[in-house]
Amino acid sequence: MTRMSEKGKLVLYTGCSGVGKGTIMKELLKRDPSIRLSVSNTTRKPREGEIDGVHYNFVSREDFIRLADADGYIEYAEYCKNLYGTPKKQVEDMLAQGCNVFLEIEVKGGLQVMEKFPDVLSIFILPPSVAELERRLRERGTETEEVIKERLSEAENELKVASQYKYQVINDDLDHAVEEVLSILHQHTNNII
Ligand code: 5GP
Repeated sequence: MTRMSEKGKLVLYTGCSGVGKGTIMKELLKRDPSIRLSVSNTTRKPREGEIDGVHYNFVSREDFIRLADADGYIEYAEYCKNLYGTPKKQVEDMLAQGCNVFLEIEVKGGLQVMEKFPDVLSIFILPPSVAELERRLRERGTETEEVIKERLSEAENELKVASQYKYQVINDDLDHAVEEVLSILHQHTNNII
C-alpha cells in the first residue's frame, strides 16, 4: 500500500469512452473550486481542438517509456493501441496543496490505483445503456468507424469492472450526474476551498 502526504482527496473517476465523463468533469470544475483534474501523458495524437499541456501532455512513445522506467507514473496502461499515464509529481503537488484531485482514467489504470491506494474514492460513470453509449460515440464524430468499434468492445470489458468501484453514477441527465458526483465527494471531504 502506498501513502501520499495528502491534504486533499484522491478521486478515481472512470467511465467508458462516450459516456459523457468529460462533460460532467467540465461542470464539476466550474462548480467546485477544490477540484483539480490531473493532466495525463499520452502517446495518442491530439484531436482537433485539444491543447498540449491542457487536455493531455502529448508525448512520444520513447518519452512515455522513459518516464515509466524512472517510476514517474502513479499508473499507466495501454488503451486502443496508445499509452496513457498519470504523472506522479503533479498529483502529489496538488494533493499537498489541499486540492481534490480527479484521475480521469480507464479501468486497467483504475485497478492499479485501487491496489496502491485502497482508500481512494472511486467513482464509475455508467451509460443508461450500451445502445445509448454507441449512439453518443457516433454522434460525437471524433473517431473513425474502426476506432468506434474498438472502443465499444473495450466498453463491454470496462462495464464488468464497474462494480469494483465504490460508487456508480448513471449519466442519464447531466445535471443530475454532476450533483451526484459532488454529493459523493462532499461526503468524503470537508475542505471546500
Ligand atoms: P481518450 O483517447 O478518449 O482521451 O481516452 C481514452 C481512455 O483513456 C479514456 O477512458 C480515458 O479516461 C483514459 N485515460 C486518460 N488518461 C489516462 C491515464 O493517465 N491513465 C489511464 N490508465 N487511462 C487514461
